Amino acid sequence: MTLKALDVPGLLRSHGLTPRKGLGQNFLTDPVVLDKVVEAAGVTTEDAVLEIGPGLGSLTRHLARAARQVTAVEIDGNLIPLLQQVLAAEPNVRVIHADILELDPAEVMGGDPYLVVANIPYYITSAILRHLLDSSNRPQRLVLTVQREVAERICAAPGDLSLLALSVQVYGSPRPVLRIPAGAFYPPPNVDSTTLRIDLHPQPRIPSEQLDAFFRLAKAGFSQKRKTLRNALSGGLGWKPDQGAKLLQAAQIDPQRRAETLTIDEWARLTAEFLEENIKAV
Ligand code: SAM
Repeated sequence: MTLKALDVPGLLRSHGLTPRKGLGQNFLTDPVVLDKVVEAAGVTTEDAVLEIGPGLGSLTRHLARAARQVTAVEIDGNLIPLLQQVLAAEPNVRVIHADILELDPAEVMGGDPYLVVANIPYYITSAILRHLLDSSNRPQRLVLTVQREVAERICAAPGDLSLLALSVQVYGSPRPVLRIPAGAFYPPPNVDSTTLRIDLHPQPRIPSEQLDAFFRLAKAGFSQKRKTLRNALSGGLGWKPDQGAKLLQAAQIDPQRRAETLTIDEWARLTAEFLEENIKAV
């Protein structure tokens, strides 16, 4: 049975609070949408869930009914008493008052498998993704409500790839699962929103021990917009002009191509070649 909507404006008012724009506070209030998010996340009673930014607990309540355990990390101390009040009847929820970017998910969730389901503050989408994907215990799945334009960017195919898309797709397959109208939030955001589901691969598509080198190359490749990869690599890594071209040729990639066109397999080849060259140079 769908839960009754939480009276978010009323709850805030009763505690003399207003939504903090600076913390990306747009609260999801529509219970039908909240049910759909939990359903799209495929949460079962076996699952431990990490929620980032529970706000007043609207999504948390729905997660608590579907999951085995929910750990909700909220940065705003003003919301904690309210959150505890809203969640008093949910024994399987643990609230942590902290900045998610300062918290190691492996420490909070231990070594066990877990999912992340969250309506995150849009202004730190990339930082949150990087933080979670970089953890020694990565989640099995991420189901994040984000700005629609960012969701599209993350799901892009070769030809339109960005450093953000690549950084996500190395670890998992992202796909949009739900469009959320601005009216489902209080206050409504100025941008459209999409729930993105990212199922993580059992292993990253670049071998773990090569990921540092891969990110160095990818950052350099995307560092200079509209430049050919040969120039972007040489410029970004401080190499002589022909060094980038040589590496690309060795990896059988046309040096005139641009970073956004390379597939992950091509980045993998480039990384392996780069490491091979480094070994030869030692
Ligand atoms: N999940 C709630 C909902 O859907 O109604 C709130 C979503 S709101 C978009 C984002 C929430 O993240 C806010 O409650 C905000 O205070 C919190 N937040 C912002 N930055 C955070 C951070 N670095 N760590 C943890 N929570 C954060």
